[in-house]
Amino acid sequence: MNDQRLIQEFIRVEEQLREIRIYVRMIRWSGPCTPISEWVIAKTCPLGTSSVVIEEDIMKLLVDQRFFGVCEECHDRKPSGRMHGTTLCQSCASQNHGVVY
Ligand SMILES: [Zn+2]
Repeated sequence: MNDQRLIQEFIRVEEQLREIRIYVRMIRWSGPCTPISEWVIAKTCPLGTSSVVIEEDIMKLLVDQRFFGVCEECHDRKPSGRMHGTTLCQSCASQNHGVVY
């Protein structure tokens, strides 16, 4: 998944009354096949923050391991909920290492 699509699907910016909130959609598992997604506030900015700064903040979130990770085997950036640890994604873990979920 390229970064642009990742941003579209997993990051949302909302202008509230008092601040601008950047949300990240986190994926949790309530069973092997039951992902639950939940929008969490990753960062808030004062109202009037320029879109350039917001873009920079979004790029910082993409490299933040709390939210996303890059798989060393397929080199794909994925939401942390789809990672198996910090350096391997779940697809590679099950395809290349026999991990069963
Ligand atoms: Zn992978």
